[in-house]
Amino acid sequence: MSENNNVIEQSLTALLEDESFLPDLKAQTRDQAFKSLVAILSTPNHIHKSFLRVALENGTIVRIPSFRVQHNDTLGPYKGGIRFHESVNEGEVSNLARLMTLKNALHELPFGGGKGGVIINPREYSVKELNLICKKYVQYFNDILGPDKDIPAPDAGTGEREMDWMMAEYKNIHPGEPYRGSFTGKSIINGGSLGRKEATGKGVYFTFKYLMHNFVKDNERWLSEQEHRFAEAALRKVDKKLTMAVQGFGNLGAVAAREAFKCNELQNIIVAVSDANVMLYNSDGLDIPALIRYAEEHEGDLPQTEEALSENEIKAVVKERDNLLEIDVDVLLMAALENQIHKDNMENIKAEIIVEGANAPITEEADEYLSDKGVLIVPDILANAGGVIVSYLEWIQGRDTQFYKEEEIYELLYNKMQSTMDTILPQFFGDPFPLRQNCYIHSVMKLSTVLFKQGKLY
Ligand code: NAD
Repeated sequence: MSENNNVIEQSLTALLEDESFLPDLKAQTRDQAFKSLVAILSTPNHIHKSFLRVALENGTIVRIPSFRVQHNDTLGPYKGGIRFHESVNEGEVSNLARLMTLKNALHELPFGGGKGGVIINPREYSVKELNLICKKYVQYFNDILGPDKDIPAPDAGTGEREMDWMMAEYKNIHPGEPYRGSFTGKSIINGGSLGRKEATGKGVYFTFKYLMHNFVKDNERWLSEQEHRFAEAALRKVDKKLTMAVQGFGNLGAVAAREAFKCNELQNIIVAVSDANVMLYNSDGLDIPALIRYAEEHEGDLPQTEEALSENEIKAVVKERDNLLEIDVDVLLMAALENQIHKDNMENIKAEIIVEGANAPITEEADEYLSDKGVLIVPDILANAGGVIVSYLEWIQGRDTQFYKEEEIYELLYNKMQSTMDTILPQFFGDPFPLRQNCYIHSVMKLSTVLFKQGKLY
């Protein structure tokens, strides 16, 4: 949700009724504590802003606006990506930082929430200029970053190259100090973790599969006794063929689509995929491995013409990009950008299940409308935590200088995600809240309890 400002308040209000939540608090103290918790959790601790002074290759000096928002560090050092995009703004970075606080709390990671942003279109800068921008970012924010203070990672527009550059600059500024844990999402040779690149896409698909297959099958009888509208929706789909559309075919979308394509437990048919240029459709199912091969050879783009499709023996028709959201499928997997489902298209959505791979792909208004209609929405903070979970493993490996094998990383990743779902799903199917609210309640409860026990509510 783009405007999740009141989410914390709503979650606390839901908890207010529950006497087992902070049982030591009585009457007036309880009211005061709630007000303090709302104030603490709904505002960021710090918003840092700088104008990076960068000399371009043509000799011009530019000043590039950039941010680091540190939302909350109750559970550990701030953690969250740095986005290079021309639409970055303070509000967006703050929202994403808050989502990171909630996500890390939900998955029991020892991190707080942060996010960074630089207002540029990285495609308009040379490699040398991008290197300079990365170095300047670290120089300007150097006081607030570090393996035990605030640990950035890649986000849209940045990747392992940028993290390597930033870590190297951090090391220059802090000679003799530990530096490997200062950034995650680095290249393997620079201390990155095996599996980090695929972690989010694999985690997104794992979440969906665990919910729709493992959990539902293991609890079929209990679910059928719940008289729960989402339980009924999940039960209706079990062991059925599921048609799926995937919006976004980048790092996350392509990996999640490949996992869905090759999955043995669920009978998925991916009928549509889209990227920034086109939608491709085939009612019998698309050849996802062939599309991935094509994208790898064409700077990440899907084929855009009938000729390109037939030359590569891919059976599909080219359609208008944004129609993907409105086609009649069981599952929509969102893997592109924020705010894709909103008040103007929410009434046309036909999918009964929406999985949020991207952060906040559904606006608050659309989220409420679709949840009321009975659409099962698997929220971003539950589904897309694979990246930050493997970042956590990278951070640990950086400290120990002991590296895990790729299979070990995936096993640790899936165990962590499964453990979160085994906590959340029984609660979700037992109470009236949508899954997103359930996740938020869990995160806020964890954060509130730690704050209370640390004596920070007085
Ligand atoms: P990416 O840049 O690799 O891919 C984005 C994809 O979306 C590209 O295929 C692009 O063409 C497509 N796209 C852009 N605009 C579109 C539109 N209007 N309609 C359809 N497709 C469009 O990015 P990514 O790493 O795959 O991340 C996707 C989203 O997931 C981002 O919002 C990111 O913040 C979020 N996310 C990513 C990770 C991660 O580890 N990669 C982790 C958590 C959240």
